[in-house]
Amino acid sequence: MNVIITVDGPSGAGKGTLCYALADKLGFNLLDSGAIYRVTGLAALKKGVALDDEKALAEVARHLDLQFIPQNGEVTVWLNSEDVSQQIRTQETADAASQVAVFPLVRAALLQRQQDFATEKGLVADGRDMGTVVFPHAQVKIFLDASAEERAKRRLKQLQNKGINGNFDEILAEIKARDFRDRNRAVAPLVPADDALLLDSTVLSIEQVIETALNYIHQQL
Ligand code: C5P
Repeated sequence: MNVIITVDGPSGAGKGTLCYALADKLGFNLLDSGAIYRVTGLAALKKGVALDDEKALAEVARHLDLQFIPQNGEVTVWLNSEDVSQQIRTQETADAASQVAVFPLVRAALLQRQQDFATEKGLVADGRDMGTVVFPHAQVKIFLDASAEERAKRRLKQLQNKGINGNFDEILAEIKARDFRDRNRAVAPLVPADDALLLDSTVLSIEQVIETALNYIHQQL
């Protein structure tokens, strides 16, 4: 039986760090589904496809030439043989990703690509609808949340660590706008699965989040 652990939640809650640690500790594959939506958004921007043209966006999603390649302990993301690992992390691409992600045809076009990550090795799947839509039969489901203010604080710190000056109010506004779009879209909105463990990381350190998640996983498997 292929073991699948899903981790859903809003941006900045710490899903990426948690999923990386879980995959590493358990020896499982890792699916960063957000990166797939980001590459779709970026590919649309590069091709000049309008971000409200559902049919054209679904074509972009269907024909995405996308690869995840491990390099020096990190996973690089390639689109049409170009390393786009940095480009997909910009605010512009994040915004484009959440705009293309509202369309059912786009989500349908990306479904199988995500499900293909589940192999005998086991999988940790990071996203918004991993436990509700993509892997509804996953053995373990976690929903990781944190207040918008705390997530904006973490994002600001991340930018500062890279030597980039950010503005707290602007970051908070961006986070709230993306949350609103993700939580209120008609298809696959960001909601916890009924059988998910709800974990609020607002006042927890990342070590505490990882420990709580690992204990829960061991109980469930
Ligand atoms: O997780 P990340 O911030 O990289 O995701 C970028 C955007 O992609 C999200 O804001 C969301 O709109 C979309 N997304 C999604 N479903 C997923 C993963 C990401 O709709 N499973």
